[in-house]
Amino acid sequence: MSANDVLVDFDEVVASYDPALGLEVHVELSTATKMFCGCPTTFGGEPNTQVCPTCLGLPGAMPVVNGKAVEAAIRIGLALNCEIAEWCRFARKNYFYPDMPKNFQTSQYDEPIAFEGYLDVDVDGETFRVDIERAHMEEDTGKSTHVGGATGRIHGAEYSLVDYNRAGIPLIEIVTKPIVGAGEKAPAVARAYVAQLRDLIVALGVSDARMDQGSIRADVNLSLAPKGSGVLGTRTETKNVNSLRSVERAVRFEMSRHAGVLNAGEKVFQETRHFHEADGTTSSGRAKSDAEDYRYFPEPDLVPVAPSREWVEELRATLPENPAQKRARLQAEWGYSDLEMRDTVGAGALELVEATVAAGAAPQAARKWWLSEMARRANDAGVELSSVGVSPAQVAEVQRLVDAKTINDKLARQVFDGLVAGEGTPEEIVAARGLAVVSDDGALSAAVDKAIADNPDVAEKIRGGKVAAAGALIGAVMKEMRGQADAGRVRELIIEKLS
Ligand SMILES: [Zn+2]
Repeated sequence: MSANDVLVDFDEVVASYDPALGLEVHVELSTATKMFCGCPTTFGGEPNTQVCPTCLGLPGAMPVVNGKAVEAAIRIGLALNCEIAEWCRFARKNYFYPDMPKNFQTSQYDEPIAFEGYLDVDVDGETFRVDIERAHMEEDTGKSTHVGGATGRIHGAEYSLVDYNRAGIPLIEIVTKPIVGAGEKAPAVARAYVAQLRDLIVALGVSDARMDQGSIRADVNLSLAPKGSGVLGTRTETKNVNSLRSVERAVRFEMSRHAGVLNAGEKVFQETRHFHEADGTTSSGRAKSDAEDYRYFPEPDLVPVAPSREWVEELRATLPENPAQKRARLQAEWGYSDLEMRDTVGAGALELVEATVAAGAAPQAARKWWLSEMARRANDAGVELSSVGVSPAQVAEVQRLVDAKTINDKLARQVFDGLVAGEGTPEEIVAARGLAVVSDDGALSAAVDKAIADNPDVAEKIRGGKVAAAGALIGAVMKEMRGQADAGRVRELIIEKLS
């Protein structure tokens, strides 16, 4: 953001302009080895330990295409309803950058492996069809670290370090056609598209799809045109946006900024932009013309990729259920309201609830545990829901004990404590901690008598017909029995004794 950026209120923007979105999403594939060599792809290794002559671009080194990466590319293409090329080639994209040791990136240009597809995106119950222009294969670059400057960027840095472990990791770049007609929902559509694409990638099992580790990165293109004009304005490209929330914020910010420029009668400058997580703004990157000359030419060291139609059909048969359709199916099976389903998905609990239900718990009970007790534990520990230390099978087992009235919800929380502490199975924890609910009338009856004796005024009210007052006595009994009384039976005993 620069000092002369004038931001226009979002409502005013959508009253005067039509936004057009474009999303370019890079997906890092989770193949064991790199795109064109046998180096491992594991994340977090010591810098420059996962390299070889090929991915370092040393003279004479010959690349070989990773078949698993091609398979993943085709499966992604099919899941996005794309056509799969019968024959395509890699191309050299020539440019110099220190984190790209070959001085060209091996990519695809006019012959992508997959093209002409779509993804239907659900936004607040409304479906937007996002047309996919292409999905192509390429390799990742290395990673530069600029040391000594205030911003972590190259300007002002004292020196830069480069790590080539990432150079050559397989990427699939998925490019949409311009998304028009979203209006005020443009930021939400952008977010929903990336979210659903990520879900699809996870369901395909081709990437770990961690936005925070950069294994999915989105470049967000945005332009505005006068409302109803039907043209496309000049676009900017906000690079490497790495969370769903940031995708939404980047679109919203650029819409307000573009409108400020256009309202002033000026032209939007075609450029890349950096997104700033801290305040949700963008700032100028580098100028970008439509016809940048990368001097693409077909890669002479690699043979063309010509997937047979039989193979493509075999891969089509391996596609998982489309995540959006799966959500609709599960909602119907579980009888969840729209709000319950939205909350479950929003909490990242869908798979956990699904596994808990598969392990035998009722859908509402499964949802209750994951969205309340487990969500609280995840929040307290600052971890993902799946890392709280309790598995879906264990949640189902605890619920079984609740259903059998061995424990109640309150005691279940102590069982979860025991599970997190590794004290054994839920049943073992109930036994070891002495948590089982007491429904034996002998013990309960004594506690009820004591509660009546301690609270004569309450007892008198109940005798007089005020049954609602029983709550106070139940509370006293539960306290006496450290929460381990069967509350329903306690209530019955109180009424019996006082009527
Ligand atoms: Zn290598």
